[in-house]
Amino acid sequence: MTVTVRFAPSPTGHIHIGNARTALFNWLYAQQHQGRFILRFDDTDRERSKAAYAEGIAHDLAWLGIRPDDTVSQSARFAKYDAAAEALKAAGLLYACYETPEELERRRKIRLTRRLPPVYGREALKLTDEEKAAFEAEGRKPHWRFLLPNFSETPFDPVRTEMRWEDVVRGPQTVDLASMSDPVLIRADGTYLYTLPSVVDDIDLGVSHVIRGDDHVTNTGAQIVLFEALGAPPPAFGHHNLLTTVSGEGLSKRSGALSIASLREDGIEPMAVASLAVLIGTSENVAAAASMQELADRFAPTATSRSAAKFDPLELAALSRHLIQAMPFAEAAGRLAALGIAGDRAEAFWLAVRGNLDRMDDALDWWRIVTEAPDPEGALSEEDRAFVKEAMLHLPAEPWDAGTWRAWTDAVKAATGRKGRALFMPLRLALTGRGAGPELADLLPLLGREETLARQS
Ligand code: GLU
Repeated sequence: MTVTVRFAPSPTGHIHIGNARTALFNWLYAQQHQGRFILRFDDTDRERSKAAYAEGIAHDLAWLGIRPDDTVSQSARFAKYDAAAEALKAAGLLYACYETPEELERRRKIRLTRRLPPVYGREALKLTDEEKAAFEAEGRKPHWRFLLPNFSETPFDPVRTEMRWEDVVRGPQTVDLASMSDPVLIRADGTYLYTLPSVVDDIDLGVSHVIRGDDHVTNTGAQIVLFEALGAPPPAFGHHNLLTTVSGEGLSKRSGALSIASLREDGIEPMAVASLAVLIGTSENVAAAASMQELADRFAPTATSRSAAKFDPLELAALSRHLIQAMPFAEAAGRLAALGIAGDRAEAFWLAVRGNLDRMDDALDWWRIVTEAPDPEGALSEEDRAFVKEAMLHLPAEPWDAGTWRAWTDAVKAATGRKGRALFMPLRLALTGRGAGPELADLLPLLGREETLARQS
C-alpha cells in the first residue's frame, strides 16, 4: 500500500509553529515510507477563507522544505459532499433536526440535572412528517445529524460502543460512541462542517494515514463510523500532542505571533523551525537537524509525549544560530548570492564570518565591512591612531594567508612593545570599526594589503 498523507489547514490565517508540527509529522511520515503528501485546503467556509492565506500557507510549507505531491481545495469539491450526504440520508443515517441553539442548551441543562450525559437526545428522530412540515412552514431550516451506531434496540437507549484503533502516535485508543452527540454534518444554512467533507476527501484521495493534532481524537471515533457508512475502510490515524506558549496558552492562527511568516521575517532558519516543531514534546533530544533527511531519520512518532508541549521562541533562536554557524559554504552559497555576496572571496568570507552570525542576513554587515569600509562606530583615541599608523609600517608583503596576521602582529609587538588587548584592539577597530567579530587572521587576507593600508585613519 502506498502511504498517502495530507495536511489540511483552513486558509483563514497564517499557519503557526503548531500547524507546522502537523504538516511536518505528515511530511516526515511520508518521507519515511516513500509516500505521497497532499496539501488540502479546508476552505468550505467561503467567508473566512482567503486565497491570499492559501498562498501564504503554500509558501510557508515550501520555505520549510515541504513539497506537496498534490494540492486540492474543498471549495471545488462540493458536488462530492452533496452526493455523500444524499447517500447517507437515503440510508437513514443523516437526519433533519430543527432545534434552535437555545432549545438545545435548555435540554442539555435538563439532562445534566437528571445526571444524564449531556449529549443530544435524538428528539428529532421522533418528529412526524407533519411536525417537520410545520417547522418548515415557520421558516425553520433543518440542520443534519449523523446517527451514530451506539445502540442496539432503539436509538433512544444508547449503550457503550467502543471504537478502537491503533494510533500511529499514541498507540491503542478507545472512544465510546455513547459518550458523544450525533455530530451535525450540515448546518441550517446548508454549509458543511468539517467532519463529512474531510472523510469524503480522505476516501476519494486515497489517504492511508490521517495524522493530526490530539484535539481530533474524539472526532476520529465518529469519522471511523462515517468511513464505514460510506463503504470505505478507514485509514490509519495518528494524533500528536499540541504546542502551547511558554505560559501554557494554545497557539492561535489569529494571533500572528509565532506564525511561520513572522519567524521567517525574524531571520530564523527553516530547519531550526522544523527541528523544534517536530522534536519538541518527544523523547528525542532537541538538536537542530541540518536537513529534512536528517530530521526524517530522527523522527519517531511513537516517541511523542501525551501532554501538551511548551514552545519557547528563545530555543528557536539558539537552534537557528547553531545551524548558521555550522553551515558549509556549499549550502550557504545560493542564499549569500541572493544577498549580493558572491565572487572569489565569498567562500573564505563565509568561513570567516559564519561563527559570528545570529541570522544569515547579518552576513551583509560583515560583507560591507570587508568590501567597502569599516563601521563608523569604532572611534580610536589619538594615541591608538598613532599606534595603528606605526603598525602599518610593518605590514608584510603579499601574498597573504592565514599566517599573515600572526607575522604582522609579532613584528608590531617587537617594534612597539605593545601586546595583548592594547595591541589587537586598536587594529581590530581600525580594520572593522567593531570591537568584536571574526578572527582577524581570517579577515586580513580578505581585505588584502592595499585595503588594509587604507584603513589607518
Ligand atoms: N481542517 C482541519 C483542522 O485544521 C483538519 C483536521 C484534519 O486533519 O482532519 O483542524
